Amino acid sequence: MNHKKNLRRREFLQCSTAAVIAGMGGAFTSRAAADDSIEEAVSKVGVLPRRKLGYSGREVSILIGYGGLTPSLADAAVRCGINYWHMSNRWTGTGVPDVILKNREAHYLQVIVDRVGGNHETGRIDEESHYAFVKEALAQTKLRYFDDMQFHFGYHNAAEVKNNRSFIRAFERLKKEGLVKHLCLSQHGYAGNARVPGGESAAEILTAVVEDGLYEHAQIMYSYGEDPAINRFLEFARKKNFGTIAMKTARGIGRMKQDAEFMSRLPEGTAPHNALARWLTTASNIDLAVIRVQNLAEFAETYSGAGKALRAADARAIDLMMARANRTACRLCTECQPHCPQHVPIAEILRFERYAADDGDLRRARALYAGLDCRADACVACGSCMDHCPQKLFIPERLAAAHVLLSRA
Ligand code: SF4
Ligand code: SF4
Repeated sequence: MNHKKNLRRREFLQCSTAAVIAGMGGAFTSRAAADDSIEEAVSKVGVLPRRKLGYSGREVSILIGYGGLTPSLADAAVRCGINYWHMSNRWTGTGVPDVILKNREAHYLQVIVDRVGGNHETGRIDEESHYAFVKEALAQTKLRYFDDMQFHFGYHNAAEVKNNRSFIRAFERLKKEGLVKHLCLSQHGYAGNARVPGGESAAEILTAVVEDGLYEHAQIMYSYGEDPAINRFLEFARKKNFGTIAMKTARGIGRMKQDAEFMSRLPEGTAPHNALARWLTTASNIDLAVIRVQNLAEFAETYSGAGKALRAADARAIDLMMARANRTACRLCTECQPHCPQHVPIAEILRFERYAADDGDLRRARALYAGLDCRADACVACGSCMDHCPQKLFIPERLAAAHVLLSRA
């Protein structure tokens, strides 16, 4: 690694001479600074351990990457051994990073496929459209195949798992053509969702998926805080050799990092993203996890915790983070949903709030919020939802704050 670093510096010195001549010194200086930051992040993280994912037994890095990571972050991640990429079709706009394309066989690339003719609540599962979508994504990304085909948002209930085989048929046709290899899904909860008649919880649907035996692994909303139904499912999944990946993991972290008083109370030597990565990868029942990061500093803080033991100080940090997040950030369990007479999509709105407040993705959060047919200002503050929230969130207040954040132009 030192050799590589020295080489990069030598290349930089050679280039910078030419650049000064050409009047482009500034651009090369920035490039060299970026290279040094990547080196620093990579050396702090090291190489991540791997674990088997699902019944195919593929060895996958315990934290996975995702489409949308900038080239610098993807470069750093590859050098730290990350070999699975969630949403790799999201690179259609910018192109799959060279560092992955050059060594295609070393990576597992996943395509996410949505319902059609509506959103994840109102859309339908359609074999022809899903088949065509994957082919188009392959043409646009110039990848020869996707390793994993993921049903994005998942099924609405266990009956749909059993009776609607359209997604599976699209997968099987693509698999025969050598264009996809493994079947997976991400699963949200739909119990009590006014737009999804007969909707069930994520744990109920996932249990049906595992019993059905066709899917190999699933992404699950999972973070600190007790969730008995999901914990039971994780134990069941492990017994059945069904792979699990935690998503939506950084609950409330963006907000807590803005709170200087809270940060000052964390035990010395701990940091929220680092403690989260330690907890997810060594002290939970989940197989793998995806944790969103915004820059190289956050990458280094997060990924350097992967596979490292949860020290006593980290456990105390997790307790403090959980207590704070329980007051501010929804865990998206949807327990409140059946109890709202106004049919306010509480979990959807608070999911978008998390994108804005915790992931720093305000633009996407506002676009999603603008697309809702019922927004937070429909809440009449009756309070009937609150008794059903395991976090005892003051939901009307949270919704009002989300409305202000998400409806500004
Ligand atoms: S407080 Fe608002 S969100 Fe909760 S049940 Fe009443 S109207 Fe629905
Ligand atoms: S508001 Fe509470 S009950 Fe509703 S989804 Fe969020 S955490 Fe669950």
